[in-house]
Parts: sequence; structure tokens; C-alpha cells
Amino acid sequence: MRGAMFTSTDTIAALATPVGTSAIAVVRASGPQVAALLAGIFQEAAPPRQVRHADYRDLGGKVIDDALFVFFAGPNSFTGEDTMEVFCHGSPFIAQMILADLFARGCRPAEAGEFTRRAFLNGRMDLSQAEAVMDVIHAQSERALAVANQQLRGSLKRKMDNLIALLINVLANIEAYIDFPEEDLPEENRQALIDKLQTIQAETGRLIATRHYGDLLRGGLKTVILGEPNAGKSSLLNRLVGHERALVSPDPGTTRDYLEERLVVGAHSLRLVDTAGLNPAAVSLEMRGIEKTLEQAATADLFLWVVDSTQGLPALPPRIAGLLTPANTMVVFNKNDLPDAMPRGPLPSGFSSISISALHGQGLDGLLNCIARLADAFQVSVGDEIVAINARHARALEMARAALEAGMLKLRRVDHKELLASDLREAMAAFGEIAGRVDHERVLDAIFAGFCIGK
Ligand code: GDP
Repeated sequence: MRGAMFTSTDTIAALATPVGTSAIAVVRASGPQVAALLAGIFQEAAPPRQVRHADYRDLGGKVIDDALFVFFAGPNSFTGEDTMEVFCHGSPFIAQMILADLFARGCRPAEAGEFTRRAFLNGRMDLSQAEAVMDVIHAQSERALAVANQQLRGSLKRKMDNLIALLINVLANIEAYIDFPEEDLPEENRQALIDKLQTIQAETGRLIATRHYGDLLRGGLKTVILGEPNAGKSSLLNRLVGHERALVSPDPGTTRDYLEERLVVGAHSLRLVDTAGLNPAAVSLEMRGIEKTLEQAATADLFLWVVDSTQGLPALPPRIAGLLTPANTMVVFNKNDLPDAMPRGPLPSGFSSISISALHGQGLDGLLNCIARLADAFQVSVGDEIVAINARHARALEMARAALEAGMLKLRRVDHKELLASDLREAMAAFGEIAGRVDHERVLDAIFAGFCIGK
């Protein structure tokens, strides 16, 4: 399916910018009719990759807008087909009239992700790159964008190509011996193959280990604010997100559930969670809030442990204390503006702390730097590139890992050459799936359905 040029008979069209009023809106179309469409609409020749300025005339000859347009001749376009982009004034009404005209001229509305799907089917990119298009659009932090861009430029594709090439080399060696059943693999060859397989296994393991970082990049680092009632957790959340999100009250125990807000700190995106205070003397409703805090804490990546500086460091419930480590926790001594604030007390060994006033904002910049430093440490690099796989890649890599392990056992036992070859082919197919060497329409449907219309 991949490699051979995919020829679509229909021309698809969609708005490429969000619906709503803006300075400019972009309408895009791709398919075999594009050159004829442009000639009809703008009544002038469209040299490829040149911005032209002309009136957009509808089928009836009426001018809809004074527009710019660009023609991209296939295969040198995003989709690999003839493509056009029309830049019109950003009124939803104009964009709709242009789209309606394109449909009247025989285009059909593009489905979600259909432009990128065509790019993949036409071999303009592999599947990991097509997925990266979506990651780039949805990136919520500088780091997420950097990693998505690397994947778009083929970082994961190159790794897969590399692993597949290594496997082909091993397979070729083994298959040479399958043809001579009476001959055994010479010992030094077998050892060389074991070494190669180990290299492949190690790289597969390193890639699988980036899964959690991939989730963090795509979803944000879950950062749980916890501490005793009235320590200033809600004040800190409000101060960090820059507006009144959580209720601040001098009465302890006002946050009984939890609140979540997005926050970009340095190059990272955080999911900031404010939780119910850890009141050792809690009753009924407050107890339920504390249970929720425990649930949130169990899946947290980072903790901001807020301590009231006028009270000193309290003991934490053991179930929480067990989750906090110097690598994932910042102890935040709050209310340093108060006259009876005490100097920062002794901390559990290795933990770092910072002194702030959530009320007045002192120390906030320092706290943000500390959070960014903790978040930096989550980065996992594979070789010289930062790769962060998604759930689909992880499933394929796990399949490859299992097949490689099975193959390695057989190789060590010096038997079952045919079965060994079949294990290795299975691993190769799993690597290939990441690049999209699959014929399953269903898989493609599932991937591209997550895109927006016009991409
Ligand atoms: P939470 O229960 O931990 O969420 O605490 P809140 O944010 O609701 O704050 C409890 C009380 O402490 C409120 O009256 C806040 O105004 C006050 N407070 C919070 N942070 C500070 C601070 O940095 N300095 C002072 N002086 N008061 C604060």
C-alpha cells in the first residue's frame, strides 16, 4: 500500500483555519481537479508555489472576495497531490461561501485528518510522521513542540529503519542456514548474531522507556499541590495560574474536592492539581476529600508540598510521605510575609525547599525555576535525539520485544532455525507497523479520526 502512489479520484476541500472571525482564513483543496478549479475561479494561470492575488469568482461569475492563492503541483505538495490554498478575508461567511462554491464545483468535504492521510498514502511521510503532525498542532509546551518536530522530521522513522535494517541482516544470516538443515551455525557466527540481537533489544527497551515521557509531553506533568488545611494551597494555585480559580478562605477545609488547571512552566506543560488539605483531625466530608487527595497523589509526577511557615513542618500521612522523593517534590514554605514566619525548618534528607508568599507573590519566580528544573529531569533521550513514543508505538514495540526475546532463546539454544526466523520476522513487522507498513484500514481510520477537519 505504501510506496505505490495513491491516486484519489475525488478532490477534497476544507477550511484549514479555525471557524470564527479572524484576519485571514485559509481554505484548502487537494486532488486531481485542483488545476482546473483554479483556472475557473481565478481565470488566470497558476504557476506552482507562487502567491497570486486575484478575485475569487464563484460558479455564477460573482466576486466573493479579493483573495490570495497558491497552487502546489503534485507530487511536491503536502498531500503529494495537486493542492491549492486560498487566503481570504477571515469572515466565517466568506470562508463558507468559498467552500460552498468548491463543493458546487465538484469537491467533497474533507474528513478529519484526510489531507495528512493522503500525504501518508502518497509516501510523503510515514505514519509516525503523520502522527507528529497532530502532536505539533496540539503541542502545549516548547518541549512538546521540539519533540513533535523531531518526530515530524523523521526521528522515530529513522530509528525504525535502522532497527529493521539490523534485523534484516540477522535474518539473512539465519536464512542462509535454513537452506542447509544439516549444517549448524558456526559458533562465532552465532555469537555475532546474539550480539546484534542484543543491540536491537537494548534499543527497543530504550524506546519503550520513553513512553511515560511521551505521555507527559502530550498530557502535561501532573503536579499535585498538597499540605495541611490553610497552608495556602489554593492561594498558590491562584497565584500560579494568574487568576482566582480556587476558593481561598481563612476557614480550614474549604477545598473538599480537587481542581485542575493547565500551566506552562519553562519549556514544560503542567497539569496543576489543588487538593483537599491533609487534616489529621478530619471528619466525614473532609475525610472523603483526603481520600481524593490520596488518589491524585498516587498518579502524580511532581508534588508541591505547601507548608505554613508560621507553623513549621507537619508530619504527613504515611501513605503520602511514601510517595514524596527529593526528585519529585518541592517543599514550599508559604506565608513568609508574616512576622511570626519561622526560618525554614529541617527537611527530610535530600529534599529542596523554597520560601514564598502566595499572597504577595514573593519567591514565585524562584519556585517556577525549581519546578522547571524538576520537570527537566523527566526528559529521556535515546541516542542524540529526544524521542517520546505514544501508546500505539508502545504496543508495537512491546510486540517486537516479546518476539525478540523468543528469538533470542532459540538462538541461544542453537535450534529451531525456522521458528527463530519467524520470530524475527514478527519483530520486523512490529517495527514496520510504527512506520505504517500496515494494510489495515481500521488502524488508519483510528489514527486519522483524531485529527481535525482541514488537516
Ligand atoms: P488552603 O486551605 O491550603 O488552600 O489555603 P488557602 O489558600 O485557602 O489560604 C488559607 C488562608 O491563608 C487564607 O486566609 C489566605 O489568604 C491565607 N494565605 C495564603 N497564603 C498566604 C501568604 O502567603 N501570606 C499570608 N499572610 N496569608 C496567606
